[in-house]
Amino acid sequence: MKKLLLAAAIALLLGYGWNELKPAVSGENKIVVLEGEAAGWEEPEPAGKKLNIAPDEVYKGDLLLVNSRHSVPKGAKLPRVVNLFEQPELAEGIGVLDNGVELPPELLHRFAEMVDAARADGVDHFLITSGYRNEEKQAELYEKMGADYANPPGYSEHNLGLSLDVGSSLGMMKDAPEGKWLEKNAWRHGFVLRYPEDKTDITGVQHEPWHFRYVGLPHSAIMQKQGMVLEEYLDYLQEAGRIQAEVNGTAYTVTYYSMKDKKPLSIPIEGSYTLSGDNMDGVIVTTWDAGSPVAKEAGPS
Ligand SMILES: [Zn+2]
Repeated sequence: MKKLLLAAAIALLLGYGWNELKPAVSGENKIVVLEGEAAGWEEPEPAGKKLNIAPDEVYKGDLLLVNSRHSVPKGAKLPRVVNLFEQPELAEGIGVLDNGVELPPELLHRFAEMVDAARADGVDHFLITSGYRNEEKQAELYEKMGADYANPPGYSEHNLGLSLDVGSSLGMMKDAPEGKWLEKNAWRHGFVLRYPEDKTDITGVQHEPWHFRYVGLPHSAIMQKQGMVLEEYLDYLQEAGRIQAEVNGTAYTVTYYSMKDKKPLSIPIEGSYTLSGDNMDGVIVTTWDAGSPVAKEAGPS
């Protein structure tokens, strides 16, 4: 059934002018990325269901880019957070550095699931050293650490509630089994190592083997496969327009829509989807075959 759906999806895409398909297959990851040319695809005929996208969706979602050039959107809703020290049952078996660490419960849940997977591999000495920071906390840190080690308030991913710093009680993350495990496996759980050693010229941030960002599947898998950090991935989506990725047997379609003219958009949609802005000019719509168990697991909650 799944094969049939995939074949149908590919046939459909071919029919709609995918004039350049570059399959890239990786045995272990089971990721296939099919790229369509920016101008080479057209919308499918309206099939009934429509997704209406308001201009402010550009500033919401798991793919928001926050760096030295793009701040947390002004007026963004502050995430609901829990204090891990006050609610230790939410981070069972995971160390917490001090009583100031706060995280949105959804992010903590996703991180705890990843730790469960690490535990099954015998890696079990995780320590959360920093989570969500409000602008006040970020300002304090910036004052204390200086511009080389901290971002000004509003320009740190920690102000977004989608990132956390992870340490190991066994030593420095760059050497510890926890760091090595996360670097290799975080993508399977929707997380990415945000500031890798070989991308400092793009991220503008020194190598931080402890800083992990949630972007969700299939994005983490595609970024891993293509060797891209978030800046590169968002550029890539904008340029490609639409890509299809098969991750562990689930076919995903990822489409970029420009919202430059700040007008609401209405697009035909089928099946399950997630929507995220890029915090620049666009929104990214991700759809997948909702029938597969993997898709259910990877879907939004
Ligand atoms: Zn960090």
